[in-house]
Parts: sequence; C-alpha cells; structure tokens
Amino acid sequence: MAENTDKMVIDGVELVGIWKEFMPSRILYEDVTTEFLDEVKKLPGGATIAKCYQCGTCTGGCTLPEFVDKFNPRGFINLVRRGHYDILVSDYKDLVWKCVSCNRCTHRCPKGVNTQEVVRAIAKFLEDKKVFGKLTNDEAFDEIFMDEVISDGRIDEVKIVKDFYSKTGRLKDMMSGDQLSLGFKMFTSGRIKLFGGKIKDWKKVSQRLKEELQ
Ligand code: SF4
Ligand code: SF4
Repeated sequence: MAENTDKMVIDGVELVGIWKEFMPSRILYEDVTTEFLDEVKKLPGGATIAKCYQCGTCTGGCTLPEFVDKFNPRGFINLVRRGHYDILVSDYKDLVWKCVSCNRCTHRCPKGVNTQEVVRAIAKFLEDKKVFGKLTNDEAFDEIFMDEVISDGRIDEVKIVKDFYSKTGRLKDMMSGDQLSLGFKMFTSGRIKLFGGKIKDWKKVSQRLKEELQ
C-alpha cells in the first residue's frame, strides 16, 4: 500500500484509497475555539477527538438516531471543536448520555477517532460541569452502588437502600408501612442481611480503584 493511502473497512469490506485527502475537513480552522476542545482532550478517551474531520460516517452508522431524535456523534464533536459549549448544554446535554457503547461509530471512523470514547468523554465533561442539576433516581442509584463496591468490594443492601432514599430526599418514604414490611419480609426470608461486611484485604484494591477513577 502506498504511503499516503488509508485503509477503511465498512461492513467487512476493505476499501483502500486516499480518503483523508479525498474528503476535506468540514471544520474551518479559523472557526475553532480550542479551550473547550483542549479540556475534552484531556479526559480519559477524549484525545482522538482532534483527528475528526467531520465526515459523518459515525452518525450514519450509529445505532441510536433511528430511536433517539437528534442523537448525532458527529454533531457533538463538532460543537466541542468549535467551542459551542452553550449549545451543547442547552440542546444536547440529555442526549449525549444515551450512547449505548456499541462502538459501531469507532469501527467505521476512517480517521481512527475512538468515537465511542470521545462521546463518553463529552458526557463526562458535562457531568463534571454539573450541568445536570438534581440527580435522577438512576444516577443516584448508580453513584451509591459504585461507591459501595469501591469502598467495600461488596454490596450492603440495607445501606444502599438507606443511602438511596437519603440521596433522593425521600427518607420519609423509606419509613412507610409498605417499605418496612417489605424489608422485614426480605430479612426474615434471608434475602437481605442487616450488615454487609467487607471483602478481606479489600483496602489496597479500593485505593487502586479510587486512583484509577480520579
Ligand atoms: S468521528 Fe470519525 S466518522 Fe465521525 S465525523 Fe469524525 S472523522 Fe468522521
Ligand atoms: S457507540 Fe454510541 S455514538 Fe457510537 S454508534 Fe454506538 S450508540 Fe452511536
């Protein structure tokens, strides 16, 4: 293969050509504000965003647009590259999170962008900026579940339930007759334990996980 040719595989078919030259970038460099881009690049998985030349192959092959209106990985990348943080937040913040990590975009990208990781990095960026306001029940549960796994290496069901109700501001609901009766039944039938305990020698693993996730 000549030095300036690129290999592109689409649906198992190998296409060899000078794709990068054939398809000029849709980003005009004088139009780009790099501050926002630089921050996303620094996040885990964000680095390859700089290679994107906006061909749209990722969006064309993405699983979601058929089901989720306006879901557009090329478009999210475009907003970051042009520095349009305000538009990303106002119009797309709830969409970026819907990526199902199928990686079809990554496999099809002719420029070697890890599109799935980039979309996740953009979502992480938005999360770090706290643009989502109050946590949804799903997000609250995910956070509590992960904290528990990282800290103890196992799940303490009673603690998880208590923390979940507390984090979502519904401690009163936890003390309702229905919930107490359900908890009692689960306890007496051996489905839950009052105290979860810890995995032996978990402290080192926990420390390592915390460092990785920082
Ligand atoms: S991420 Fe890849 S496939 Fe998607 S627009 Fe950019 S270069 Fe094209
Ligand atoms: S990984 Fe996400 S962005 Fe990529 S094709 Fe799948 S759903 Fe679309």
